[in-house]
Amino acid sequence: MFNNTSDTENSANNLKNILAHRDRGMLWHPYAPLETKPLYGVLSAQGTQLQLQDEEGFTHTALDAMSSWWCQVHGYSHPALNQALREQIEKFSHVMFGGLTHEPAINLAERLVRLAPGELNHVFLADSGSVSVEVALKLAVQYQRALGRPTKNRFLALEGGYHGDTIGAMSVCDPIGGMHSEFRGFIPEQLFAPRPPSATYDNAQQQWSVNEQAQHNWQKTTEAIIAKEHDSLAAIVVEPIVQGAGGMHFYHPHTLNTLRELADRYELLLIFDEIATGFGRTGKFFATEWSDIVPDVMTVGKALTGGYLTQAAVLVSTNVASTISDSEHRALLHGPTFMGNPLASAASCTSLDLLTGALEGYPLSCWEQSIPRLEQTLNCSLAPARSLTSVRDVRVLGGIGVIELYEDVRIFELTQAALRRGVWVRPFRNLVYTMPPYIATEEEVQHIGRALVESVAEVHGE
Ligand SMILES: *Cc1c(COP(=O)(O)O)cnc(C)c1O
Repeated sequence: MFNNTSDTENSANNLKNILAHRDRGMLWHPYAPLETKPLYGVLSAQGTQLQLQDEEGFTHTALDAMSSWWCQVHGYSHPALNQALREQIEKFSHVMFGGLTHEPAINLAERLVRLAPGELNHVFLADSGSVSVEVALKLAVQYQRALGRPTKNRFLALEGGYHGDTIGAMSVCDPIGGMHSEFRGFIPEQLFAPRPPSATYDNAQQQWSVNEQAQHNWQKTTEAIIAKEHDSLAAIVVEPIVQGAGGMHFYHPHTLNTLRELADRYELLLIFDEIATGFGRTGKFFATEWSDIVPDVMTVGKALTGGYLTQAAVLVSTNVASTISDSEHRALLHGPTFMGNPLASAASCTSLDLLTGALEGYPLSCWEQSIPRLEQTLNCSLAPARSLTSVRDVRVLGGIGVIELYEDVRIFELTQAALRRGVWVRPFRNLVYTMPPYIATEEEVQHIGRALVESVAEVHGE
């Protein structure tokens, strides 16, 4: 799918005008050296499609298999989101949240409280996923102090987890994946339970399965760690059901029940990080809903604004919120400049209305209609990867499709192979995965699946 365009000649003469060349050496990209290569310029983005400019100035049209890191669920330049932002920008784009409030923030909080499970009735709006995790951790420490337990100020997290890149968030990421050794002495040391055993969900049977012995062993180990260390623990923090950036790992809902019981037994808060899993991606509106338990605190982000702006939220139970209200400071001790940003809040409200089908005319955005289509199509189209010798596992849950290899992905080659097939994908470690936009049609998801399987076969062997 190389479309050589007329700007080719121009660029051949003048490499300096190519975005990758203007960028390189000056701008840092996520976890990449300044000289990162390859780098593609985005010329435009519409619906599921990206127009990319490569290093030579050629233009590629690519289906975005990543939803721009899981957030752009309604596709690019969505008419309803564009309209909502235009309307808000004419009113006001930003005001401080200290002592002031506004309709977009209130509308958003009302929606979140309505959609959240249980009694998560209180909302703190944060400016990114990592910040919302920081807020949740600080909240847990404040909560324990308010109850006269000042030694409870560490956290239990899971190996293989990912919770963001700021200091507190990093400290609860997987110790190796989170590069704790690089920052030893700077980031706090937390406790880790093993990664829960992997589980698979059979959609036809509507059943989860897991190796029961492994699950039992995990439970015993985790119980023992918490029993020994609970005096120093404020909370348990996990990504429910799917560990995302830490390895696209799916685990059994019963795990959440175990964590709830342990949290209750040892007076710990239970924090679920739904930043990646929220808003339908796993096949439930929140992944928490795969179980029948509710956490005390829940963080949401990524797809919250439909991928338009940076915003996240911390949802807090009435019980925990009232403990904070009764404490010495009475406040949650955090307050970013851009808290409750009206533009981001307006986008979030519209995105939630699209997801729930409250805004008519956009059936593809409605998660309950789209996720089963994505799941079914991913299951079919990724299945052929199972017969490749380089492939260890293929798994699908909701709108998440994963091809796990035995070896680390040759990222450079694989990205290019997929792009030649008209698909933008960003593998990491030994994982080639897709989280298509909810609006992707059956044909588009098939196209993504085929491109990924073919690219793996081409780069890593049949
Ligand atoms: C992406 C992610 C974060 C961090 O969010 P940012 O907006 O990148 O700061 C935290 N937790 C989980 C589970 C995530 O997937």
